[in-house]
Amino acid sequence: PDRVGASLEISGISKQFRGLRALDDVSMSVAPGEIRGVVGPNGSGKTTLFNIVTGIYGVSSGSASVDGRVVTGRRPHQLSQLGLARTFQNLRLFGQMTVRDNVLVALDRSSMLAVWRYLLWPVGIWRAERDLRARADDLLERFGLTDFAEAAPTSLPYGIQRRLEIARAMATQPRLLLLDEPAAGLNGQEVGQLGEIVRAIRADGVTVVLIEHNMGLVMSLCDRVTVLASGGVIADGTPAEVAVRPEVIEAYLGD
Ligand code: ADP
Repeated sequence: PDRVGASLEISGISKQFRGLRALDDVSMSVAPGEIRGVVGPNGSGKTTLFNIVTGIYGVSSGSASVDGRVVTGRRPHQLSQLGLARTFQNLRLFGQMTVRDNVLVALDRSSMLAVWRYLLWPVGIWRAERDLRARADDLLERFGLTDFAEAAPTSLPYGIQRRLEIARAMATQPRLLLLDEPAAGLNGQEVGQLGEIVRAIRADGVTVVLIEHNMGLVMSLCDRVTVLASGGVIADGTPAEVAVRPEVIEAYLGD
């Protein structure tokens, strides 16, 4: 591809919630253009790690950087400027708006500067509107959502809603995309489509890190996998390497 995704470097992150140590000295390196899986039993700290990288939680110690620029301790809007976007485990869509408007809102947030620039010209507003609509329609097309553009998300199958959530995250043109359990609630066919979508996103110059419980998807999709247990990294390697590690098998048996 012309563009290659951003790197993600997590160095010695620890996070404490009152008495509880949710993350303990977690480090991992994600190479540009990689698809990385983050797996582990419930409560092992996966979502906390995402929440720290995306500025929702502060760190107790350690840091994370995207393409060498520190992202920990920044605000969400600064993170999208640094090329970082994410989805959430529970869908965060505007249920009553149309699918197209859901994408338009995401685009609008990421292009306020463009809007101000256009406002300096008399035809500015019209042009900004037209550009946003064209970009929204491009995204809908890319994610196979064109047929549902006028529908309300809540009226659509869950798999389509998940796809819309990814399209919204892609509206900010990220170079690193974090997906929190993207296959949750999907049927087998939808999981297959999700795999194709993630590969297409990577081919477009985006590094992808996904938290996922669907091991079939992790094994077939991810270049490397990081396994967390009780807030620490217990294994890191290719899917085939980590799947046979005794400590990984043990962590899952205890889940
Ligand atoms: P996972 O995503 O692997 O299931 P989490 O990151 O959600 O795990 O949780 C890791 C640990 O941190 C759990 O024990 C959880 O209860 C705790 N935790 C997560 N968020 C908070 C919070 N905001 N306040 C207190 N404890 C939390």
